[in-house]
Amino acid sequence: CSFSDLGLAEWAVQTCKELGMKKPTPVQQHCIPRILAGEDVLGLAQTGSGKTAAFALPILHRLGEDPYGVFALVLTPTRELAYQLAEQFRALGSCLHLRCSVVVGGMDMLNQAQKLMQRPHVVIATPGRIKVLLEENSDLPAVFSKTKFLVLDEADRVLDVGFEEELKVVFQCLPKARQTLLFSATMTSNLETLLEVSANKAYFYEA
Ligand code: AMP
Repeated sequence: CSFSDLGLAEWAVQTCKELGMKKPTPVQQHCIPRILAGEDVLGLAQTGSGKTAAFALPILHRLGEDPYGVFALVLTPTRELAYQLAEQFRALGSCLHLRCSVVVGGMDMLNQAQKLMQRPHVVIATPGRIKVLLEENSDLPAVFSKTKFLVLDEADRVLDVGFEEELKVVFQCLPKARQTLLFSATMTSNLETLLEVSANKAYFYEA
């Protein structure tokens, strides 16, 4: 099975080749076609399995067809992970002139709010900081009103660290008609609950 068998655009297939990704990993083989088909996905896969590209590639493929506004919001538990995700998005999306913003604690909030007002294609955030920004800037929630994808990366940790309140604020700014993609190392009861409320008809992949 090759990247082009999964239904990805030619530019994406070429980018994978240039990055030395010869063939899709199992989580990519299973999740990419489903995400391209519009399904919600819950993938249980470890770091190192290629899970980031499993959601970044189909998101970028869809973005290439319809570049409008904030397209995807990715939530992740730590700053370091946020920067790592951004690096992969930028590498995989280099052909698209991707505008990708990282919104994490410890950085200037005014600057972050201004960047978000410019409607980047992909926003990668920690739940705490994005919540504060959404609450303190009345113009910001509208920026997210047409978001097509919500991704919870390391979803077990995002939910475990007790980001419930933060997630509630963020979810309220997102449209109901969106795709929700959850990636996690383990299945937890929080994840089961979230799956019930936010991701009806999710495709489930377990490594
Ligand atoms: P992740 O599981 O998302 O943390 O990815 C781990 C590493 O594997 C990253 O550095 C990716 O660039 C790399 N990677 C992802 N998909 C593939 C692939 N299909 N072939 C080779 N390397 C890959």
